[in-house]
Order: sequence, then structure tokens, then C-alpha cells
Amino acid sequence: MSQASTVGLQDLWHAALSALAERVGQATCDSFLRRAVPLQYDGQVFVLGVASQFAKNWLEQRHLPAIGTCLTELLEEPVQVQMQVVESTDQSPHPPALAGSTAAAAPSDEGDFSSTPLNPKYAFENFVVADCNRFAHAAAQQVAKSPGKSYNPLFIHSKVGLGKTHLLQAIGHMVIDQHPASRVVYISAEDFVNRLITAIRDNRTAAFRRKYRHVDVWLVDDIQFIAAIEGPASEEEFFHTFNTLCETNKQVVIASDAPPRHLQIMNDRLRSRLEMGIVADLRCPDVETRVAILEKKAEAEGVDLSREILEYVAQRIESNIRVLEGALLKICAYASLTDEELTMPAVQDIVADYSTATTQHRVTVDQIIEHVAAQMDCDTADMRGPKRTQEIVWPRQIAIYLARELTDETLASVGKSFSGRDHSTVLHAYNKVSELLTTDESVLWLINDMKNVLQAD
Ligand code: ADP
Ligand code: MG
Repeated sequence: MSQASTVGLQDLWHAALSALAERVGQATCDSFLRRAVPLQYDGQVFVLGVASQFAKNWLEQRHLPAIGTCLTELLEEPVQVQMQVVESTDQSPHPPALAGSTAAAAPSDEGDFSSTPLNPKYAFENFVVADCNRFAHAAAQQVAKSPGKSYNPLFIHSKVGLGKTHLLQAIGHMVIDQHPASRVVYISAEDFVNRLITAIRDNRTAAFRRKYRHVDVWLVDDIQFIAAIEGPASEEEFFHTFNTLCETNKQVVIASDAPPRHLQIMNDRLRSRLEMGIVADLRCPDVETRVAILEKKAEAEGVDLSREILEYVAQRIESNIRVLEGALLKICAYASLTDEELTMPAVQDIVADYSTATTQHRVTVDQIIEHVAAQMDCDTADMRGPKRTQEIVWPRQIAIYLARELTDETLASVGKSFSGRDHSTVLHAYNKVSELLTTDESVLWLINDMKNVLQAD
């Protein structure tokens, strides 16, 4: 059979769709494939009409083989698939005519894309400034005072629970206070991608773009998810929004759990654009600062705690301000439930739940290499050395991954522990293991066990 009729095409595509839902997942199927229209099949090439360039890239990069396989199985002959962007893919009895038709403009319902509301607690007034965050705080204030005019983008990174979201939202509050008419959008990268997918599915990509490319201050939280959740297509959309805003002198502020050079993103232009403004990190606060933070929070809760209690809590919980705050809230709740004076043993009891779970032991790269070698039955000298056989490459990659995760060593210094391997080799190993962690459960367990043992020492 060479030329399938239009009706035959539709039937064929419907049959393929049910098989595809199983292979590519319901979300992709609903978002993109149900909207796609079969345009042509000449016995070899099957042309599928999709709603946007974005949908085309997405499907081409991720699902072309699956679509080809389904059609090949149905037709029992090899089928090649091509995508073509058509202006509207609304179901029509005459799909091939669509390429020339003009779609009615989608209603501009921008309410749907509104940003996440800001938390009133995350204001500059409630942020304790100390050495660990002085630079990021100053940059954030500067940006809030003159958005788009000083540092663009401002990129803030730190480990979890050290105040990124707080600073991002503090910028939002200050801008709104000082310039009530300006459009401020705070959104997590994950939300951005989800809303993008919905917009594409509903054929409202244009409204989506209008919304996000016309803001005055764009605060994007947890950008590491851009690459992690949906891959190159969402990254591309993010990149365009980001570029449009920077080029029109709108302020972009980004928070991330890693500096730009360690982000797992594919687009090198995006990476270098991220580094073009100012990159500021937040580090763990020292014990004095932790006491000051606790003092401020207790005051906000209206609970009067002794210096002894505050110091005790601050000493036991080192690494994460969110956890510090959690312990404090529990102490405050306890205090308000009993009329008696809070005793140290009671406080110790409450804090014990938190501190063991969060204070992490410092591990050295040497300890990691020894542990991995012992667990995986290989030689530490081989692991550090030049051998490249599969038996040694895999344990080495795991050790490198753990070294990046559990120590504060730079890529270069991790490389030194492995016979001076350069930073790109270290990064490659790290990325390889990170990738496997999301696809291979046995790797996830292996790494998790090793982390637990290493940190418990
Ligand atoms: P991240 O986004 O980096 O994971 P958050 O901004 O959510 O961290 O901060 C975790 C908690 O710690 C929040 O409740 C925040 O208010 C508090 N916090 C962080 N840094 C400070 C600080 N310097 N002063 C006061 N509170 C802080
Ligand atoms: Mg956060």
C-alpha cells in the first residue's frame, strides 16, 4: 500500500496513539500526541503535524523512535516519521488543509500563569546577615533597589535550607513595595515546566510566552530542575524567556543548588549566560549566626528562650537553617503547652531528633576511595591510577561522585586524588553516576548505602 487515504490516516494514527500511550507515558501523550495530526503517509515517510516548534523539538528529541516503532508494527513495514509544525492542530476532518489555515487567536487568559504568591515571612527584615551570606544579601538588595540596572542575572546558589528562597522572595517584596506597578513573578523551575506543558497541551504557548517574557522581575527558584525533569526542550524555552528578559533589561534572579558550571544543563550558551551577571553563594552560618537566627525566630514566635537553650540548639544543628528552625518551632510549641519553665533535658530530647539526622560528618576523599574499594572489591591504587578497564572505571566513577557529594573539594582537587585527572573527567564521572541514579534503582541503593556508612563514621 502506498498512498493512505485521509480516513485511513486518521484510523492509523488513532491505533498508534493507544499503543504509544504505553510507551511514552500518558503525560506526553496527552500533552502533545493527542493534539498532533497525521498529515501524510507515502508508504515510507509518515508526516505528523504538531502545534509548535517546541512540541516538534520535544517529540523529535525524545519520542521519534517510539512513534516510528509503533507505526512500523501497525503497518508491518518500516516507517520513518517526520514532524511538521502546523498553525493549529485542532481536530479537523481535512488535516492536510491545516497548514494553510489560520487558527483563531487563543484567548489571552493570563490568570492561569500567575506566579506563586510570596511568603510574607521571607522579607529582608527577617534575614540575619552574617559573613556566610553577606555578599548574596548585598547583591539581592542592590537588585531589589534597581531591578534590571545592576547585576543581571543574579545567580544565588547554596545547599538546601540556607536561605535562597528567602532571599529571592525578599527581592520580590522589596520591588513590590517600592514599585507597586511592576510585574514580579516568583516561580520554581519545576512549576515553570509544568505550566509550560499545560500551555502547550492547551495550545496556548503564545499566551504563556507573552506572560513570562513581559515581566519586570523574574525570580526563578530551584533552577536545577529545569534540566532534571524534562530535558532539553524545557531548557530551551527557559533559555528564550531568560534571554528576552535580560536583553530588555528586565531583572532575572535565579536560585540553584549548584553553581552554573555544575548544573546539569545541555545548553552551553545558557550556562555561560547564567554566569554573565553575578554569582553569589550562601554558606553554612557559624554558631554565632545560628544563635542570632534562632533569637530572631523565637522573637517572631513570641517565645522567650534562654541564651543557654539557644546556644545548645545552635551547637547541635550545624548544617541547615530550615532544620534549625524546625527544632526551634518544636521547642516553642512545647513551651506553650506546658506552664512550667523549659528544662534543658526537655530541650535536649527535642533536639536529639534533629541533630543526628542532620549534622553530617566531614568525610575525606581518601576515606571515600578506601570505602568504595573495600565495598567493590578493588584496589585503591588502581582506583587512583590510570587503568581504564571497566572493572575499575565504574568504582572510580562512584568514588568521584561521592567525593563531590560528601566533601567540599573542588572538581580540580577531587581530580588530584585520582592521579591529577582534569575537572572535565571528574564532572563526566559525576554526571554519569547522577544520571544512573535516576534510571537504575540498584545504583540508587548502592550509593545510598555508601553515603550512610561514610557519614556515620
Ligand atoms: P533554601 O531555599 O536555600 O533551601 P530557604 O530560603 O527555604 O532555604 O530557608 C530555609 C529557612 O531558613 C527559611 O525559613 C528561612 O527563612 C530561614 N533562613 C535562611 N537563612 C536565613 C537568615 N540568614 N536569616 C533568617 N532566616 C533564614
Ligand atoms: Mg528553596
